[in-house]
Amino acid sequence: MQEPYLLTPGPLTTSRTVKEAMLRDWGSRDGAFIALNTRIRARLAELAGATGTHVAVPMQGSGTFAVEAMIGTLVPRAGKLLVLVNGAYGKRMVRMAEVIGRAVTAIEAAEDQPVDIGALDRALAADPAITHVAVVHCETTSGILNPVGDVATVVARHGRRLLIDSMSAFGALPLDAAAIPFEAVAASSNKCLEGAPGMGFVIVRTDALAAARGNAHSLSLDLHDQWKGFEANAQWRFTPPTHVLAAFGQAIDEHTAEGGVEGRGARYAANCRILVEGMRALGFRTLLPDGLQAPIIVTFRMPADPAFVFETFYDRLRDKGFVIYPGKLTVADSFRIGCIGRLGAAEMEAALAAIRATLDDMGVRSGAPA
Ligand SMILES: *Cc1c(COP(=O)(O)O)cnc(C)c1O
Repeated sequence: MQEPYLLTPGPLTTSRTVKEAMLRDWGSRDGAFIALNTRIRARLAELAGATGTHVAVPMQGSGTFAVEAMIGTLVPRAGKLLVLVNGAYGKRMVRMAEVIGRAVTAIEAAEDQPVDIGALDRALAADPAITHVAVVHCETTSGILNPVGDVATVVARHGRRLLIDSMSAFGALPLDAAAIPFEAVAASSNKCLEGAPGMGFVIVRTDALAAARGNAHSLSLDLHDQWKGFEANAQWRFTPPTHVLAAFGQAIDEHTAEGGVEGRGARYAANCRILVEGMRALGFRTLLPDGLQAPIIVTFRMPADPAFVFETFYDRLRDKGFVIYPGKLTVADSFRIGCIGRLGAAEMEAALAAIRATLDDMGVRSGAPA
């Protein structure tokens, strides 16, 4: 049986060749594996336009581990973090700072609004204790695209440092260190780069990382120490997720072959367009206006038709080979459908056909919300 397509925010559908790259065991001290790591680290820095100024430091675990390593290592114990929050992942960074024991403050916007640049400007002017600002690039909670360029400009003007969670955007939406001054950006193997889950990475200014020695709250999540390990012998300090790295090397080659960030972003934008147009034709409404929507994951408002029961809709779509995602919003009842992973126009059209058939089976006349 064909395995289901994952129309989710990750882990995602990967290519057969990425999966096949995991059919081999690697010795973690072996020359070929060391060369693979070096190649991946160089390519990640290159993707951020950060070769020479920044280094890419991979971290075992899911994306959250990389974000926590970034905050715990780069925000000094006497520092203070301001987090721009408009969804669950911004809130998670606030929680991390609290757990780690860093002074933290937040500016909250509604989940269907971008982060507030004016409020950021005022907060930085009012509070000289703030050393770092953190923002989520695409807030996966809603699928909204945050204006990271404008955030970076304001943060730089106030002489503070910017940390970006670009987990669900990196590799598909441009993020160029020369245009957007950031101290660090965190992402992972299993979102827009279409690898297997199991590692994150942080691309961080070399001077800032060098100065961060001794900051970390944790041995295993110490990004400085992890970096020093790679610098010393190009090896991981502790057992690396070897199969994940093998798959990631293949995934990065496929990303390059597709035309890099531009090519990948164009395919996702086309997927998103097909999805949104098809769903609107069935009466569904997106949470966000098109101008705020990132081509990553789309939030739809829950239909008002009493025949629509989300759990039934989900199960029947799953039986037809498409896995969607529940909503995570506090502002409105909703569900989400992703447009990332190894999916193209044919798969998006097939998903829409399955949605149409499911609505017919359920006797739902329209996807229109109340
Ligand atoms: C997926 C994601 C993360 C990390 O999630 P993990 O489940 O730890 O991989 C962090 N931030 C954003 C914006 C994400 O989309």
